[in-house]
Amino acid sequence: MLFKAEEEKPAERLGQDVGEPIARNDGGDRLAQRIGDIAREGCGSERRTADACNGERAIVKKQGAFDRLIQSFAMLFEAGAAIELRTVVMRQNDVDLPALAGFVGTALPFVERWAIMQLENIGFGRMNWDLSFKDTSTDFDNLARAINIATARDVPVQLYNFPLCSVPERYRHLAAASISDWKNRQELFCTSCSARQRCGGFFEWYDHRKGFRGLGPI
Ligand code: SF4
Repeated sequence: MLFKAEEEKPAERLGQDVGEPIARNDGGDRLAQRIGDIAREGCGSERRTADACNGERAIVKKQGAFDRLIQSFAMLFEAGAAIELRTVVMRQNDVDLPALAGFVGTALPFVERWAIMQLENIGFGRMNWDLSFKDTSTDFDNLARAINIATARDVPVQLYNFPLCSVPERYRHLAAASISDWKNRQELFCTSCSARQRCGGFFEWYDHRKGFRGLGPI
């Protein structure tokens, strides 16, 4: 999901000024409409909402993906399902993460977890690595703002695929060891790290020559 950066600080409007957050008893037929309304109000106009959806299409490359996602959320919510929302951090959406956090906190506060994920260097991620990999070990600012906004809205956040030393100390408790043992490895510099047992490490196919620049033993 991607919302375009707006000059009027959409994170603040989405997170604070766009009506009441959706509550569990808002369920029923109106839920998808209500979520869509919040997205429209938060983006300020139909055209800008369309721009936002265009931006999202640029990432997922499917027309109408945002609308389908909203419909799916409404159906899952009505069914009482436990929902984990997943967002992959990329250079294309990094600046929009705070706005997205505001939207999640306002329109989707019922998600069980918002999993924010680092890009995996395989498949689509490998094809677009140079264009899309956001080195959050050297610039965690937008991600930190997003986490702060979501946390203030009581949305549980978890970080997946982030080596522990790539995350500022204040947020390390959110970084899960999310990479399965069979596809997990560590780098040479991990040998002397005191956090090896807790750290999720790297995917087997991670290429450090093109990867995080701000890592080192803790
Ligand atoms: S040095 Fe290696 S083991 Fe230690 S936190 Fe960083 S990636 Fe994890």
